[in-house]
Amino acid sequence: MSLQLPASLTPSKVSAFKECALAFRLSAIDKLPEPPSLQAFKGTVVHRALELLMWEEPQGSRSLEAAMSRLERALDELLVSEEGLALGLEGQALLDLRADAAELVRNYFVLEDPDQVTVLGTELRLQVEVGESRLRLRGIIDRLELDAHGDLVVTDYKTGRAPGLSQEGLRLGGVHFYAFLCEQFLGRRPARVQLLHLREPIAICSTPSDQSIHGLERQALAIWAAVKRACSEEDFRPRPGSHCSWCGYHAYCPAQGGDLSQLPVASRRPAEGHDGQAALALSLQAGA
Ligand code: SF4
Repeated sequence: MSLQLPASLTPSKVSAFKECALAFRLSAIDKLPEPPSLQAFKGTVVHRALELLMWEEPQGSRSLEAAMSRLERALDELLVSEEGLALGLEGQALLDLRADAAELVRNYFVLEDPDQVTVLGTELRLQVEVGESRLRLRGIIDRLELDAHGDLVVTDYKTGRAPGLSQEGLRLGGVHFYAFLCEQFLGRRPARVQLLHLREPIAICSTPSDQSIHGLERQALAIWAAVKRACSEEDFRPRPGSHCSWCGYHAYCPAQGGDLSQLPVASRRPAEGHDGQAALALSLQAGA
């Protein structure tokens, strides 16, 4: 018997497979939900606040005050979402969340002036097929914008700690993946990709090149071959490391004293198919 292949790869799935094959399997194949995470929820709130700021305030009026008011809106929206209700935040925990999210938004203003951002899209869903196997690659880009020269820039917000130097390449791999999707989907290669780490705050920028773009496609196809092999052999091994501290699968992980045979049968849903979300088509006017 072999496990069913996932229908696509995303940057987070690629990095999950590289970090720990078992965690990848539990998330991407068994579709086992992770327990709600305060850190992930905080990230969602801050992303939403910055998205609202970009779309609801024209350039010239994206002040810190406007951003804080969008943060309150984002909190109001998301505290009643499924994830927000599952966390059940109230009292001091809610005050702490609000204060920390506000600090992250203030830090954002240290990294860039939002009035200078010519935004083209936020939370953009792009999907392409590559290789003879027509491997489906997809991703959600936090923000796509134009720089002062009319070139595309991909921006990814991060609300956790910035990676150490040894992990920096791995993290940048995600935004290079988005640059690859942009080039394939829109026919234009972004001139820059940037990670805005709001905690420190620090910006990490890189320029996509022929090497990074082609390397990305080769790497995605190699990971896909490894996933296919692991599925056919049902061989997804745990790889313990610092990433275990935010993994929600300890109960099923032999490396943490868990038991994979306890995996709920109901969680083994068929691998994802077309999710019905059409890839967002952007038409970029020449020189726009
Ligand atoms: S606890 Fe660590 S080794 Fe186990 S599945 Fe999670 S990331 Fe992998």
